Amino acid sequence: MLKAQGSRLKGKEDKINNFLIADKKYAIKLLSRLIEIPTVNPPGENYERIAFFLEKECKKLGLSTKKYVTPKNVLSKFGVKYGSKRVNLVADMDMEAEKTFHINSHYDVVPATDKWITDPFVAVVKGDRIYGRGSEDMKGNIASVLFAVRALKRFGVKLKVNIQLSFTPDEEIGGRTGLGYLVEKGLVKADYAMSEGCSGNHISMGNKGVLWGEIEVIGKSAHGSLPHKGVNSFERMNALVNEFGKLKDKISKRKTRHNMRDAISKSATLVMGGFLEGGLKVNVVPGITKFSIDRRLIPEENIDAAKKEIEDIIKKFNARYKDSKVNVRFVSQEGPAISRKDEMFFKVVSDAVEIVTGKHADFSVMPGATDMRYFMWKGIPALGYSASGGEKWHSDDEFVCIDSLIDTSKVFALIMANLG
Ligand SMILES: [Zn+2]
Repeated sequence: MLKAQGSRLKGKEDKINNFLIADKKYAIKLLSRLIEIPTVNPPGENYERIAFFLEKECKKLGLSTKKYVTPKNVLSKFGVKYGSKRVNLVADMDMEAEKTFHINSHYDVVPATDKWITDPFVAVVKGDRIYGRGSEDMKGNIASVLFAVRALKRFGVKLKVNIQLSFTPDEEIGGRTGLGYLVEKGLVKADYAMSEGCSGNHISMGNKGVLWGEIEVIGKSAHGSLPHKGVNSFERMNALVNEFGKLKDKISKRKTRHNMRDAISKSATLVMGGFLEGGLKVNVVPGITKFSIDRRLIPEENIDAAKKEIEDIIKKFNARYKDSKVNVRFVSQEGPAISRKDEMFFKVVSDAVEIVTGKHADFSVMPGATDMRYFMWKGIPALGYSASGGEKWHSDDEFVCIDSLIDTSKVFALIMANLG
């Protein structure tokens, strides 16, 4: 229930509440149309179509819009070769205020398998659920944000902050060619920002970092009948894996002081062998064996130190075994992110969440990264929050709950009304 004490919604809260409930068809229809534009990534399809559609919807709400196409040199820098033009849509509701509150949503979705019960690109409404690829991740949130703007406009709520929305591509491949580009180039205004995150009474305030490496163990290949003539890279790898096992134990004791929804996720982690390669034939001593490492960093750690821990193990190992050689190549790296704390912003967001959910609002760090990190890295107070369903992001039969769409609209409406 929307009860906005001391807020600019005072006296209007019941009307807005009733409007959001009575007019939920708007959000359902809008989300359905978004699901039916298959913005599948990779490779990134129909981006121009969805940006055009969203631009029209924003204009209907009286927002002014701008489109920024991510340039080719940025695409090639981040390995984006195929698919649509990367169109970033920015929509403004200028209140002539000093500060701007920015809400970002990504519009790309991951591919769907043929295991879906329904057609993933046709929205199917069943009870409180809307099924479709992207319903939860995160087209549902786009519907919630626009629905909130519509309600505030409808009731002429005077805002003390400018609202800027962005709808961006490529979050599902890291976001550097979507929101990352906009933030890097200073094309968005954001004194406070929100983007993808948890839902319900959970607000996201940061995410872990990630370091991916590929480790190559070079021995010497030989005939299986004459193993003394070779150096078995697989057996060497086994010894190396034991050394990394010690690192894994050590870092698992490092726990973030920040809250995480799942206490077990408070630790730094290391996963080995997600990718594994080596060995050609049964009667050959393997000469080269490769395996991957996936290291996740808590907000208190940094990439350089994490790299050094790995490199030190390898250095020692190479010094000990002179007849083999281990190399590491870091293929992906990204530091952790944590929001700058802004008391007023955090309070407005947690109050909104508490009013709508009736539960204590909880701030936590997410194990995986979303686009909110681009704001955080720039020192902008930024939080993650989005509409939810069955937490089936990226899996078959993804859905969002209509109740969550409406509640998320209420949360955004309250935040917009109370900021500034
Ligand atoms: Zn997402």
